[in-house]
Amino acid sequence: MPWIFRDLFAAAGARMEDHLEPVRMRPLTRYTFADGTAFDYDSNLPGWLETVRPLVPADVDGFWRFLQLGARLFELLKDTFFRRTPLTAPDRQSPRALRHLPLRHGWGNYHATVAGHFKSPYLRQMFDRYPTYVGSSPYHAPATLAIIPYIEFEFGGWYVRGVLYSIVESLVRLMSAAGVSLRADSRVARITHDGKRATGVDLASGAHLDADVVVMNGDASCVPALLGSATAPGPRAADRSLSGMVSLMGLRHSLPDVAHHAAYFSGDSAREFHELFDARTFPTDPTVYVNVASRTDRSVVPGQGETVFIVANAPADEGQTWDAGQIADARARVFSRLGRGGFPDIESDAVVEDVWTPARIGAQYTMPGGSIYGTNSHGWKRAFLRPPNRDPRLAGLFYVGGSTHPAAAHPPCCSRRRSWRR
Ligand SMILES: Cc1cc2nc3c(=O)[nH]c(=O)nc-3n(C[C@H](O)[C@H](O)[C@H](O)COP(=O)(O)OP(=O)(O)OC[C@H]3O[C@@H](n4cnc5c(N)ncnc54)[C@H](O)[C@@H]3O)c2cc1C
Repeated sequence: MPWIFRDLFAAAGARMEDHLEPVRMRPLTRYTFADGTAFDYDSNLPGWLETVRPLVPADVDGFWRFLQLGARLFELLKDTFFRRTPLTAPDRQSPRALRHLPLRHGWGNYHATVAGHFKSPYLRQMFDRYPTYVGSSPYHAPATLAIIPYIEFEFGGWYVRGVLYSIVESLVRLMSAAGVSLRADSRVARITHDGKRATGVDLASGAHLDADVVVMNGDASCVPALLGSATAPGPRAADRSLSGMVSLMGLRHSLPDVAHHAAYFSGDSAREFHELFDARTFPTDPTVYVNVASRTDRSVVPGQGETVFIVANAPADEGQTWDAGQIADARARVFSRLGRGGFPDIESDAVVEDVWTPARIGAQYTMPGGSIYGTNSHGWKRAFLRPPNRDPRLAGLFYVGGSTHPAAAHPPCCSRRRSWRR
């Protein structure tokens, strides 16, 4: 959704194109299934339909209908849910958007909707993965999340040359040029207030900063504790979104046959989601996503070699520490899935590896349980009534993080109060 980032740079008086080089990914992702079936997913429509037809010819029609459902959801939500909170009064745009109602299939169960549109087990497994983009299960999420595959197909998947972190670096440069003073590594221990409005923050270092406005970018569920409530319950384990088990690796040699984006699917999708959300254990046979940015951008590696990001979904941590044995076990399951999917044996070629567990993600970023996306989107209430962007009790206290309205992931986080029109 490059226009979201263009808007963000424009708000800072700059042009995105002067700072970033977005590259459209073609194909989007290489998908490999447990029985060895593999194909490229491409947002080039004729090419993609040629991939679908041999799987199950009727799924070509199913894909059209699924895309149309996503398109109608997008038209409905872009001027309503994405721009405003669901409980605010309608504005001028609302009637235009609401003509897309009633939306058959839009409010049921996501997995059932996917199964109703596709007969191919490969396409079902592929489209069932999209709710995990917001840390949720296809078996519990509303079909409204069909907007995610639509957005990806319609507007494309993008890489930012120099890797995603260059977005952060360019925003830091813009802020510095505008005279904004940044204090990285300054943990906020307390949001101070006078009972009516936020008055500033106490830092963990002991310093106090007065403020007219406090904007919370961390997980909103941490706010009661930051406001001084010793008894505020954290989110229930069952309400938390997914965390991840991540390996960041630098390889000595190049992998010319590996795709930039690739997903290796579990041999048993239903069991995987049951283990993640019901049993709350790391999956026996996880679906693994691999991102090799150096396949597109050689500037991110010195000479030969590759930079490899590997992630498998993991349940949010519930206080258990990930000891060396658990990490080794989870890592072995990840590499077993990759090996069975034909991914090259890279372990002996790694010059560096950094492993991130849910516990480490949680501790580093103050995310309860390492939940990446705040609460999950199970049921329409949790999907749509996320914490609002303005505190209902304290003036001057705002929320912008991925745990709040409208959703997690980079475009929603960068789009608060900005336009979702293309
Ligand atoms: C492994 C992984 C893969 C992902 N893949 C994708 C992807 O492919 N596409 C996508 O769009 N999104 C992806 N995401 C999700 C995306 O990173 C998040 O949704 C997004 O970063 C949320 O942005 P944010 O600004 O709300 O919060 P964050 O980026 O989490 O920033 C919040 C910041 O606040 C800081 N903070 C919290 N509490 C305090 C405190 N008390 N004092 C001071 N600082 C504090 C944290 O340390 C953190 O730096 C991924 C996330 C992970 C972990």
